[in-house]
Amino acid sequence: MRQIPHWIGGREVAGTGTRRLPVFDPATGEIQAEVLAATAEEVRTAVETARAAQPAWRAASLSRRAEVMFRFRDLVDGHRKEIASLLSSEHGKTVADAAGEVARGLENAEFAAGAPHLLKGGYSEQAAGGVDVYSIQQPLGVVAGITPFNFPAMVPMWMFCNALVAGNGFVLKPSEKDPSVSLLLADLLRRSGLPDGVFNVVQGDKEAVDALLADPDVKAVSFVGSTPVAKSIYETGTRNGKRVQALGGAKNHMVVLPDADVPAAADAAVSAGFGSAGERCMAVSVVVAVGAVADTLVEEIATRIGRIKVGAASDPDAEMGPLISAPHRDRVRSYLDGEGGEIVVDGREADISGGPGFFLAPSLVDKVDPASAYYTDEIFGPVLSVVRVDTYDDAVQLVNDNPWGNGTAIFTRDGGAARQFQYDIECGMVGVNVPIPVPVAYYSFGGWKASLFGDLHMYGPDGLRFYTRTKVVTSRWPDPATSEVDLGFPKVR
Ligand code: NAD
Repeated sequence: MRQIPHWIGGREVAGTGTRRLPVFDPATGEIQAEVLAATAEEVRTAVETARAAQPAWRAASLSRRAEVMFRFRDLVDGHRKEIASLLSSEHGKTVADAAGEVARGLENAEFAAGAPHLLKGGYSEQAAGGVDVYSIQQPLGVVAGITPFNFPAMVPMWMFCNALVAGNGFVLKPSEKDPSVSLLLADLLRRSGLPDGVFNVVQGDKEAVDALLADPDVKAVSFVGSTPVAKSIYETGTRNGKRVQALGGAKNHMVVLPDADVPAAADAAVSAGFGSAGERCMAVSVVVAVGAVADTLVEEIATRIGRIKVGAASDPDAEMGPLISAPHRDRVRSYLDGEGGEIVVDGREADISGGPGFFLAPSLVDKVDPASAYYTDEIFGPVLSVVRVDTYDDAVQLVNDNPWGNGTAIFTRDGGAARQFQYDIECGMVGVNVPIPVPVAYYSFGGWKASLFGDLHMYGPDGLRFYTRTKVVTSRWPDPATSEVDLGFPKVR
């Protein structure tokens, strides 16, 4: 059985621990490899390696660090297909979808390559007589990233591009479900000229995460994953004195007003509901149909669902792949056995070619009761709910009462209604006739409420702020002739 190793000190490292975790091919249901589960000692070695390498990396000039990011960007660009195929083979998403993930990850290397401009700080001349004040952004030291299965290339790039270019050492703990792409990215960073030891990967699960959270040399933790784990990582990490940003789960609503272009809204609902088999944190999982639009909208969505081709990532015609694991597929399917909605399209009934893989065809459930599990849980699979409401105000109330606040979208032709929605709604990312409003890399990504624990969003300007701390220098070149003893508190006037 193929063993997936760690990456420490610029090379692959076989672990000393005995625990191995299975890595499946979701399209066949078979185990295709085993990934090492790092022990606390192995995590310590990775952190210590990063700690030892970081001072020299921090001392490298900004243009040198930016140059590494430029090269990394070019290498990722040149390896798009290889990265996409590798991650599809473990995740199950179609290769075209995986290529989209790589493209969105690449944006982060492009943004980070602009660090010489972005890390300039500020300077105030003559803040007081003969006194200048200026601020500097300095790296934190060693920072860690803990990432989910659903974006094994993009989410690590959200984190490490900014963290590295700012002069930090980095330890990545990828998802144990699709770990291989982390090693390919590590090798591309090495080939970009990143000094050995600055970037490290420890494979594994909770044991590795707990060791990172306990390690005093880890100064900050970025986490993306489910809400319960995000909350616990935020609480433990901050208790241990670390800076933490922990992005959690989601329940994203797509509000469709009566004046919307219904075919376009149906296209968007199906694309955003079933792309990547609904395993996206920005997937639309609830369509909120306002007033008279509901009947036609449900009909148009159902028609489109019937045309989705489900198949293995290796099938060039497939539009939707399998789910990540058998237990997850069974959990998603079990919602359809419950109460609280009218099943319009039943994914349990579909004849899915692809053998014993973790496939589940798309389902549509209408007239969902917001008190039912369809609505209260993050299903994270190809089950799209429709909640019918009477008015715009009812739709806003529904979204704002929901405990999650990652993304939301409104579909309307009325600019005033869209503007009001953007004002009213309690979510971190809003789409206007755009169903998956993932911000471009020069903004930042983050939800509100139970979708993010911490203060700063991920990547973009917030990301650089997260991975640096501010130092403010107050400076005077004294004139001995005017020097005197003054016990008063320093005044600026
Ligand atoms: P997960 O929470 O199960 O795992 C995420 C990471 O945490 C993995 O590296 C895993 O090994 C580790 N982990 C799991 N359980 C742990 C525990 N008890 N203690 C410490 N570490 C633990 O999430 P997942 O299933 O890999 O990913 C899907 C979830 O991630 C969904 O809820 C989805 O909405 C969310 N997600 C959110 C965003 C976002 O930006 N908000 C983006 C992608 C995914």
